[in-house]
Amino acid sequence: MEYLCKLIDEDIEMNPFETLGISQPIVKALEGLGFQKPTPIQEEAIPYLLEENSDFVGLAQTGTGKTAAFGLPVIEHVDRTLHRPQALILSPTRELANQIATDLENFSKYVQLNVVAVYGGASINDQVRKIRKGAHIIVAAPGRLKDLINRGAVDISTVKKVVLDEADEMLNMGFKEDIDFILDNTPVEKNTWLFSATMPREVRQISKNYMTDPHELTVGKENSANTNIAHEYYLIKNSDRYAALKRVIDFYPEIFGVIFCRTKNQTQEVAENLIRDGYNADALHGDLTQALRDKVMKRYKEKSLQLLVATDVAARGIDVDNVTHVINYNLPDMAANYTHRSGRTARAGKQGVSIALVTIREQRENIGKLERIIQQKFTKKQLPNAEEVCQKQLMHTISKVQEVEVKDEIKPYLPAVEEALNDLTKEQLIERFASLEFNRFLDYYENATDLNVTSGKSRDRNNPNATRFFINVGRKDELNIRDFVDLVSSVTSLPGKTISEIELKDSFSFFEVPNENAGGLEKLFEGFYHNNREVQVEVANNKSGGGRDRKGGNRNRRYGNNGGNRNGGYDRRRNDSPRGGYNRGGGGDRPRRERRRRS
Ligand code: AMP
Repeated sequence: MEYLCKLIDEDIEMNPFETLGISQPIVKALEGLGFQKPTPIQEEAIPYLLEENSDFVGLAQTGTGKTAAFGLPVIEHVDRTLHRPQALILSPTRELANQIATDLENFSKYVQLNVVAVYGGASINDQVRKIRKGAHIIVAAPGRLKDLINRGAVDISTVKKVVLDEADEMLNMGFKEDIDFILDNTPVEKNTWLFSATMPREVRQISKNYMTDPHELTVGKENSANTNIAHEYYLIKNSDRYAALKRVIDFYPEIFGVIFCRTKNQTQEVAENLIRDGYNADALHGDLTQALRDKVMKRYKEKSLQLLVATDVAARGIDVDNVTHVINYNLPDMAANYTHRSGRTARAGKQGVSIALVTIREQRENIGKLERIIQQKFTKKQLPNAEEVCQKQLMHTISKVQEVEVKDEIKPYLPAVEEALNDLTKEQLIERFASLEFNRFLDYYENATDLNVTSGKSRDRNNPNATRFFINVGRKDELNIRDFVDLVSSVTSLPGKTISEIELKDSFSFFEVPNENAGGLEKLFEGFYHNNREVQVEVANNKSGGGRDRKGGNRNRRYGNNGGNRNGGYDRRRNDSPRGGYNRGGGGDRPRRERRRRS
């Protein structure tokens, strides 16, 4: 009986990874890493991969814990007394290869296991030396491994397990031939485990060519994105893209994000602009040296860098906890990349937001397509206006005050401070103190324009049977739609229902009337005054309204369409940037924020 109780007790206390078949020293390491219970893919894949001697296809998003799902069984299958490669893991990028190798080393902290990562951009001789010391597991980017095989520096004829991680990405990146070559150099008697977020035809083909009757496991829906991610988009003009990016960042003072661009040049440019404008940002792309990329990643992982601006390829395999936002500066060329991008946030069961900045055309061409791929809806959001940003920043400052640590070292200075502020009441103190930070954003956003683009109307405005007019009155003239129709109707004697597609702006507006009523309409307004102002009406050349040129001047210009240049804001930002407070302060939760400037 006593024995039975002990058994039951032991059973109750058994670590969930142990129940899946993971050995004690590895379980101990997992506990140290804070892995309390397996993720769904681990729960399903680990027992299968430990027990069955078969090929395997796992369909899972990044961030679902798939490294441990294949990594733990790989470790368990290694015979550590044999000093030769027994498992090979292929990954699309050096960053991911490094990440996987580090994960495996962490999992095997309490056993003697030799994991070697090989990838381009690092010393090949060092890698050869490490392999020759007796690598049990090789984690490789395909290009470098092919090189090593060709040089006769590595022998993979003894591997028993081959893992193809992010197979879809490896194919996207053109590694098909390298993979074929590598797999041809592995023994026939082995198991191949393929992991992919999506299952395009090419990946199916690989599984057909190289695998025998693989067991297939899908975690979540095939091709679907992590449901902890909220997908949002903002409708913008292409020329406002950078201003919109800054607006979003300013609205989320606590953001810890990755900004995705399409090209290396654009990545560099956006990062440089953000740095110039006082944001704590840096670039990650393939034109940087490996050393520089490692340095940037290290800073980002340590959270001393707040915004990482990256290309798709460079960001693959970024596994950083607590990324709050992924921002698609523009959408990726290949829809599948969107899943990889958004998967940088909401990792390990956390919540995250994936934001896309899109023009009307991009919305029309891409959003529906992406919704079908991720099987989730996007929410269309409005870019915040100046007041909303200022309020958010103010409350952020206030919460920093609530949380700031008061150090003993300040005590000697307090009497003098108290004396200097003696004459101020508590209310005045609060007012002035709050203004200190608030004014900075208020000044900067003083003339901030509405960056939102209204969707749908452009379609209606292509009506060939109507003529669109510009008129120099708007909301500032205390007009709502009804007053506006009354005004136009009273001057033109047209029935209200013929006046359509009204777009009321602050100090000007647009409207349409049927072509048959349009002839000479503008002349009817000659000499007409509203609010003591002469009303002017002209045919709008550009049916979309907003970009219309009038008397040589673009109306938008007076509102400014580039957040960076408003009111000389660019220069002000350099010297008195609203971000200055954030970066300089060093308060909040991130210990080593830096104020970066371009040298
Ligand atoms: P992966 O999909 O393998 O890149 O894992 C995503 C993140 O989840 C990584 O930061 C892992 O360390 C973490 N992770 C994986 N499995 C677990 C687990 N069972 N418990 C807690 N965190 C996990």
